[in-house]
Parts: sequence; structure tokens; C-alpha cells
Amino acid sequence: MEIDAAREVRTTCPYCGVGCGVLAKIAADGQVSVRGDPDHPANFGRLCSKGSALAETIDLDGRLLHPQIHDRPAGWNEALDLVASTFQHTIAEHGPDAVAFYVSGQLLTEDYYLANKLMKGFIGSANIDTNSRLCMASSVAGHRRAFGSDTVPGTYEDLELADLIVLVGSNLAWCHPVLYQRIAAAREKRPEMKIVLVDPRRTMTSDIADMHLAIAPDGDVALFTGLLAWLGQYNALDPAYITAHTAGFGQALFAASTLDLAGVAAATGLSEDELSRFYSLFARTEKTVTVYSQGVNQSSQGTDKVNAIINCHLATGRIGKPGAGPFSVTGQPNAMGGREVGGMANMLAAHMEIENPGHRERVQRFWKAPAIAGKPGLKAVEMFKAVADGRIKAMWIMATNPVDSMPDAGAVEAAIKACPFVVVSDVLAKTDTIRHAHVGLPATAWGEKDGTVTNSERRISRQRAFLPAPGEARPDWWIIAEVARRMGFGEAFARESAAGIFAEHAALSGFENDGERDFDIGAYAAIDVEDYEGLAPFHWPAPSPGTPLRPAERGGHARRQSENDVQADPQPRKNTQSGHAPITTRFFADGNFYTPDRKARFIALRPTVETRITAAFPLVLNTGRIRDHWHTMTRTGKSPRLSQHIAEPFVEIHPEDAQRYGIGDADIARVWTPRGEVLVRVLVTTRQRPGSLFAPMHWTDQFAARGRLDTLTASLADPVSGQPALKHVAARIEKFTAG
Ligand code: SF4
Repeated sequence: MEIDAAREVRTTCPYCGVGCGVLAKIAADGQVSVRGDPDHPANFGRLCSKGSALAETIDLDGRLLHPQIHDRPAGWNEALDLVASTFQHTIAEHGPDAVAFYVSGQLLTEDYYLANKLMKGFIGSANIDTNSRLCMASSVAGHRRAFGSDTVPGTYEDLELADLIVLVGSNLAWCHPVLYQRIAAAREKRPEMKIVLVDPRRTMTSDIADMHLAIAPDGDVALFTGLLAWLGQYNALDPAYITAHTAGFGQALFAASTLDLAGVAAATGLSEDELSRFYSLFARTEKTVTVYSQGVNQSSQGTDKVNAIINCHLATGRIGKPGAGPFSVTGQPNAMGGREVGGMANMLAAHMEIENPGHRERVQRFWKAPAIAGKPGLKAVEMFKAVADGRIKAMWIMATNPVDSMPDAGAVEAAIKACPFVVVSDVLAKTDTIRHAHVGLPATAWGEKDGTVTNSERRISRQRAFLPAPGEARPDWWIIAEVARRMGFGEAFARESAAGIFAEHAALSGFENDGERDFDIGAYAAIDVEDYEGLAPFHWPAPSPGTPLRPAERGGHARRQSENDVQADPQPRKNTQSGHAPITTRFFADGNFYTPDRKARFIALRPTVETRITAAFPLVLNTGRIRDHWHTMTRTGKSPRLSQHIAEPFVEIHPEDAQRYGIGDADIARVWTPRGEVLVRVLVTTRQRPGSLFAPMHWTDQFAARGRLDTLTASLADPVSGQPALKHVAARIEKFTAG
């Protein structure tokens, strides 16, 4: 591509789910600079430390620039032929379920769509799952149980309109920094806004919290089930809303009523006074938003935690209204886009259900596919177990590094090493995963590729290329299409650009979904290649035909007109998920949900206390992110500026525990779990609860860690969502002394 040094390119940050708009520019000397896009509705010009350092992470050091087979350079034709023929032979000999794709929330929607189409419609298996399973699968499952669909009701504007924000298991200050900045700015304007942080740790987010509830690990179901009982006991419910728009309230309240305040206190480790103050604040504050992320999702009770929160919002009618609702925020830049295109093992494209025969028939007919997966495939943890026991014989890993990021990572590495055929497409030549690949395929990176991402509030934004593709790197969608073509599916994968793929996905998303009408692909048909190039950020559901898609051409992205206008452009929209009335407001504003009777479902929950600690492993290890690094540091590790914030891996421990185990601040400690051990620097801090440890997940052997943290975590997962419990691992600690 030709570089236009005079032009700033509008694109989107590739890190977290806030999805900030970025303006990237190349100077005459080739230097790239970035700044926040002042017109992007997610960030209005703000960027956090990671976003600001994007230009420092785009050099070609360590890039995979040519296809390789067993570490030797190969041409594209040879590599693609080998991938296609090996997958074909494996399928012919062992059936379609003997192959699997493990993909990533780093992929763009167009890549995700095509990978899902190839596996579910043409190979005929649903063995495609994503590293987003580790991030937000419990929220997806909780939404589907309560709303009948994976629909996120919240928007970023709601956080500024709320009078009470309850942050549960969410360190926004470090993990979604621009959202944190928006809340802090709103609070400065409205000091009466209250913020409650529910987190075992006193994180940086507690700096703006009026109340910090240092809850016991996995105490969340008890906390919110207790809240439901309390709301019933003190007549703080919305009976009219419950009657008109929900089902199952009686059973849920009955189950909750078995728990009194003393029981909640015992299960959560909070005092009855703390609980009463929180419950009373929630009860009297109409405009309440409950924000939650990995502290809720990454649990063996993750889905129940999500539904315990949603139950309280349904019981008070606080959903579908400005400044009120449950709101899960996603970790990765395109976790939401993956949900839209069915990038998970139990979903189909366009939010359709793999277990719904009508949906399967529709998707197959639209794709003109020879097959369609008939049942959900293997979720991430199960998938690597199937690799380990030989059921999966050929695997394609795209844009992710599971050897470092999966729970029980040592077992995952052993499984990948033993797998007869492993393909990895990635931007880097030497991740801990690609070194076990039989075939490595060079993919284009941020700044070199075109596509779309969807952020936590369902806003779809363009990523745009402003750099030429280096070496022989190609977009992920191109690589997938070339393999599909060589497998004999060429016609269905003949798209020549990301724009063409998006238009196909958009057309599929426009299908009527009410089971009565025939196809209606008109809803997105207006999105053509020209629209795509200038596409301004917009909220899903998408605009109706004829709605202008390029407000930027009129001098910037359209701003919100009123509290109820939460979309990028105040034009009438068609709700393409239901196929019913045009949407001019927010999801669930009319009290209708996506269940057959249009009523939301309460889930009856009885909290259970899980004790994983033992005499040998008496502490609970919690894992998470720090402010300036991202995942396994393959990009942020390139920036010395980002590494200055925290230079080495560490473990946080409460002073009482440090004294008990004879460990001092800045000592090196050995942290053990039943699966392995790491050596890390000790940080003694009262931010940590007694009995708990915290360690960041980022450092790997490549970044001088002595042992990978994810070799310590367990593959225990939530039974509904399949999301691993990365926040609650039994561990022990001792001071390390050399020799
Ligand atoms: Fe990027 Fe997230 Fe930071 Fe925004 S908040 S600049 S999306 S990392």
C-alpha cells in the first residue's frame, strides 16, 4: 500500500474492550505517532498508557515475515497446500470433530466470521473456540439465561448518568483505564454520584470508591442473593415491572430468603454493617449501574454470579433505562465482535443458536454450505484436553498464545507438543506456542490490516491499515480463505477484501429472527464497500437501509442527542435481532426480552461456599492484569516506557501472612500450587486480604520470569459457561533462598 504521510488515519486501539478511537500518522521520516481520536464516542480523545505507546510496539523485531514449515522458510503455496491437505486427510480419516480452531479476541470481526464459517458450515464441526472463553463466557451464558440472548444492555453513557456505580471484580483503573477516566470526570461534575467497589483486593480503582467491600473470593453469589432477599424484606422491589416483564421471581426470592444477613456475612467475609450500608444504598438509588468483569466471570460460579447481579436489576426494574442496568465489560478489543459472528463453540453467526434447528437451517442456507455443525463443539479447556487425549488430531491456533495464557498451561503445552499437526498464524516468530507448530503462517498486525472490532458497549469501529504489510505477511481472513479454497470451498470464500466479508456478515445479521418470516437481508444491505471505507463508529443493532453511515464526513462522529438516544446517529433503526419494531432507544427499554414470551428470567440461586484450600495449600491465589502490560506481553513488552511502570513479576501478600511465613517486602518467594511453582518478588501490602495472594499474569519465560504463572492455575471451569476459574487457586508460599 502507498503511505500518505500527510494524512491521519482513524483507527481503533487493539488492546482492551473500551475500544478507543486512535488517530495514527506517519511523518516524512517514517516515524509513526498516535493520539486519541477526539470524535470517537468511546474515548473523545483520551488514551491510556498502553494506547499512547502504540507507536512504540509496531517495529518489525521478532516478526514472522514468511511462512515456515518445521522452522524452515516455505512459500505460501507450499504452506497453504500442506495445511489444507492435512486438514482434509484428517477429516476424511477421523471425521470433522477430529480438527479444531482455537481463535482469539485479537482477531478482527471479518477474520472471526470467516474462521467460524469454514469450521461450522464447511468442515461441519463446531470445534472452534476462542481465548475470549477465558474473558467473558460467563457473561454470555448469564445474559442468555436471563434475557434469552447475549445482549449487553449497558452503554458508556450510562456510567456517566448513574447515581450509583457498583464495580464488581473489576479494576477499571488499570484494566479499562479510559472508562475509569470517564467515570472520574463524571464524578467531578456530580460529586453526589456514589461508587462502590466489590473486590477482594483494594485496587487502584478504590481510589474513587466511596465504599470498598473486600469480599471473600467467590462470595459474589451470596452478596447479590442476599441483596435480593434484602430488597424483598424492605419492600424495595418494583412489583409492576416484575409482573409485567419477568418470570421466575417467586422461586428466586424463595431461594434467596434462605439466607439472612448473618449468613451473607459469613459467606462474604463482610460485616453485617457493611452489608446493610451497601444494600440500603442500592435500594434507594434508582439510577444504578452494576459493572462487572473478570472477577465475576473467571470463576467456577461465574454464570451464577452474573445472574445474581441481573436478578437484582430485574427485581428493581433497573434495566433498559438511562443510567441503570447490569453491564459486563469485555477484556479484549474484539471479544464482542466474536460473539456477534458466533466465534464460540456453542453459537452461530449473527447471534443465532447452534442448538436451534431453524437457526442452523437459516445459516446453512445463507452460506450455501454443504454442512452445518449439529451440536456445540468443545470449549477452550475441553478442547485442549481433547488435544491431549488424541481426539483432536489437527489444530489451527490463530492470533493467540495458549501455551502461556491457558490455565494449567504446562498440560496445554504438552498437548500441543503431542498433537500430530499444529498450525499457528501469528504476527510473531517466537511465541511459546508457535515454536511447537508444524506450520507457521505470518499474519498482518495492527496498523497493517483492515477490519472492524466491537467494543464492550456494542459499538462497531473500523481498524484501518496505515502501514504496508511487511515481508509476506497477509491478513488472517486472506489466510483462512486461501485454506478454504484449497479444501474445495472456493466459491463460498471468494471475498477479496475485509469490506466484502463485512458486507456478507451484515447481510446475515439482517435475517429476520422471529421464526415466522423468510429472509430479510435488507437491514444491512446498504453497507457496501464504499460505506465500509468511511464507516463511522456505530452501536449494534445496525442502521436501517438508507441511514447515513458516514457522519464523520459531516464534520465528526455524531454526538448523543439525549439520554435515550444512545446510538451514533439519531435515525430510526431496525432491531435486527427481533425483527420487530424499529429501535430508537436502548435495549429492553420497552420491557421486552428475547425469550419466547418476551419476559426476562430470574434464576433461583442458593450460594455455595467452595473451599479449595487445604493444609498443604492454605492460601488463595488470584491472578489479573497490571496497568501497562497486555496479556503475554508480546506487544507491550517491546516498550521500555511501559515496562517502567512495573519492571518484574511480583506477588502481593498481606502483612499478617508475610509475617506468618517469614517473608519480607522485596524478598524473592516461591509460590506453589498443585500444578507447579514460580519465583517472584514479594510485595507486602494491606491492599491484599489476609489469606489471599495476587500475581499478574503477563510475564513468561521470554520476559525473564522464573516459571510461567499460568502453569499454576487450574483447568477447573464454570459448568455452564466453560470459563476457567483463574481467580481462585489454592496455593502456598515460602521465602526463596539460593542454594
Ligand atoms: Fe486502548 Fe483500552 Fe487504553 Fe482505550 S483504555 S487506549 S482501548 S487499552
